[in-house]
Amino acid sequence: METKLIQTTDPHDERLRGVGEILRRGGLAAIPTETVYGLAANAFDEAAVRGIYRAKGRPSDNPLIVHISAFEQWQALVTEVPDRAKKLASLFWPGPLTMILPKSERIGPVVSGGLSTVAVRLPSHPIARAVIDFAGVPLAAPSANTSGRPSPTRAADVLEDLGGKIDAIVDAGPCSVGVESTVLSLCGSVPRLLRPGGITPEMLRAALGELEIDPAVFEQLQSGEAPASPGMKYKHYAPRAEVVLLKGSFDAFRNYVLSHADEHTLALCFTEEAALLPVKTVTFGSEKDSLSQAQRIFEALREVDRCGANRVYARFPAMDGIGLAVFNRLVRAAAFRIIEL
Ligand code: AMP
Ligand code: MG
Repeated sequence: METKLIQTTDPHDERLRGVGEILRRGGLAAIPTETVYGLAANAFDEAAVRGIYRAKGRPSDNPLIVHISAFEQWQALVTEVPDRAKKLASLFWPGPLTMILPKSERIGPVVSGGLSTVAVRLPSHPIARAVIDFAGVPLAAPSANTSGRPSPTRAADVLEDLGGKIDAIVDAGPCSVGVESTVLSLCGSVPRLLRPGGITPEMLRAALGELEIDPAVFEQLQSGEAPASPGMKYKHYAPRAEVVLLKGSFDAFRNYVLSHADEHTLALCFTEEAALLPVKTVTFGSEKDSLSQAQRIFEALREVDRCGANRVYARFPAMDGIGLAVFNRLVRAAAFRIIEL
């Protein structure tokens, strides 16, 4: 299949109408969002949605997020929109927050991965919203990467993973948040954070008054344990090299790397540290700026692969604000290997 490439930052670009048309008719297109690039299909077309799982090599029990372009489209997808969900939508939509509620019969089992719930998000990216509007239907869209690889934050990443497998890629430049959306379940009595992202626990707690953080955000699930979010049981974001997170000061990190490195070792460090390390480095943002780390982390993990390293020592990020999302992605890339220095 030939993958059509469309470069635009103009939501009124007529070519986006064509992308909407492709999607409405059951095709697959990668689109930019403020978080990462998404691989979209008509959420009401189960055959089209099956194509997403096939193109990504995604396990069929890992449900997809449904993207809408206006608040009113939500009601048809869920059994009810409770008051606390309305409040969060008014505060954080459009934006990088996904909310899980019991699904309506409009949502089929392929989208929901067989669950009785559905995850919905109203993105802020003008191109994403224009494509949803042109399609005239909600779009199921997971990250537009091959399953298990780092998520794509640039169109070139999508092309690398999915070129020739999907109908179109819309390129609007790099994503501004850089990590996938915050996933929040509103199905239980207390709201539960299943995946950290751009809307932080601090912001959610201030809005809701209460919030549980699923243990799978921090720790590896025990084998056989059923995760609240099926995506959390899969190996994720992993480069081919073995990544190890080193927890401690920069001096301790430098000493450890000095005594353990060989020519195939790489340091994944903060921008300001690269010149101070005696080995090859890939940087992921500034130490004091968690947003810059979020914007860089997936690109950095892809760079690690391009360098051909077989072992990567990574700096441990601060875990407040969006830093929790950076930690969550990095610790999965490291398959939970952490060494306390
Ligand atoms: P992705 O779209 O690739 O960013 O992945 C979506 C994430 O949301 C995965 O971790 C899914 O497991 C999670 N997710 C989507 N729908 C649900 C749902 N209904 N219940 C729990 N987790 C969900
Ligand atoms: Mg993903």
